[in-house]
Amino acid sequence: MSAPAGQTVTLSLDEVRSLTAAALGASGADRPNAEAVADVVTRAERDGCASHGIFRVPGYCAALRSGDSKGDAQPRVERRAPGVVFVDGDRGLAPLPMAVGRPVLAEAAKEQGIASMAIRNSAHFAALWPDVEPLAEQGLLGMSFVNSRAFVAPAGGTKRLYGTNPMSFACPRADGHPPMVWDQASSAAARGEIMIAARDGHAVPEGFGLGPDGQPTTDPNEVLKGVQLAFGGYKGAAIAMMVEILAAGLSGGEFSFEAEREYAGHGGPSHAGHLVIAMDPAAFGAENFLERVETLFGMILADGDARLPGDRRLANRARIPAEGAVLPAKLVEEVREIARA
Ligand code: NDP
Repeated sequence: MSAPAGQTVTLSLDEVRSLTAAALGASGADRPNAEAVADVVTRAERDGCASHGIFRVPGYCAALRSGDSKGDAQPRVERRAPGVVFVDGDRGLAPLPMAVGRPVLAEAAKEQGIASMAIRNSAHFAALWPDVEPLAEQGLLGMSFVNSRAFVAPAGGTKRLYGTNPMSFACPRADGHPPMVWDQASSAAARGEIMIAARDGHAVPEGFGLGPDGQPTTDPNEVLKGVQLAFGGYKGAAIAMMVEILAAGLSGGEFSFEAEREYAGHGGPSHAGHLVIAMDPAAFGAENFLERVETLFGMILADGDARLPGDRRLANRARIPAEGAVLPAKLVEEVREIARA
């Protein structure tokens, strides 16, 4: 009997990891690919990011089962210039190319002061902060950019052109604080958030999107059938355009509208491009960089209700490993079913 809507179950993070790896393995992923995906899914659940945790596992598995993403992909990493790392994802899922390319990127950034890593033939379905937080944990600044399928209209338009095109920024901190990492879509909302509103029967705020008739709507099902909007009108749309150029243009990966044309309809991630930039503050010669960052953060925190981006996640991180991840029972059942199939 299936679980009623609204019912939840609590899984430990070890259970999240092993269930995810089992579902990926049963869908054709080899161990390195399954473990790399399970790692980002587990980190999302540890930080309370419901839209990029177990919720994404059926989509990853669907992409593998359709053959659109390769479960035994072997990413190839090369240094194309002193400060340029290039990774061919071999048409696999993004977590493995990110994991194998990142140490090479970090080494290049420490040698050069600044370096970038372009990834193509790789399907990204995750939050971006796990891509850059490990760079800041070793004292580097990190930025990343990812495009996807066409979901978002250009400013003033009504047709899908851009992906929801997120970018992230990670900054190391002094005194043992975990890095400050922000991570946001250039659309008014991440698509996962609209999918969750549709699943749970909630309206979305005005400005999230247009229906298939090109008219504004708060019905998430209509937005999913129609087109999403960038945040902040033309300003967010300009950022979405920049992300297309950085993520897909530089890597030679598909622009979102090209990925949309090739999309196989499996419900999982399509192949796109990613760019990660790493900078070593020490190489720029600014004195007391970390202390000065703390001064800036102190000014933010001293102002009323202001907080640092990422603090919500870090508060969850302090709690969830002991308490476990509270998940929709139906979703967990679905993933267990995939793992058994
Ligand atoms: P949110 O709008 O939820 O959050 C954006 C950022 O703002 C977060 O770093 C968040 O930190 C911070 N923030 C939120 N509220 C405040 C506040 N009051 N003060 C200071 N900072 C704040 O993110 P999005 O909905 O835009 O994106 C959600 C996720 O979806 C992201 O992880 C993104 O990478 C992912 N995504 C992935 C895509 C892909 O193709 N792989 C496509 C699009 C999105 P905190 O977490 O602490 O709240």
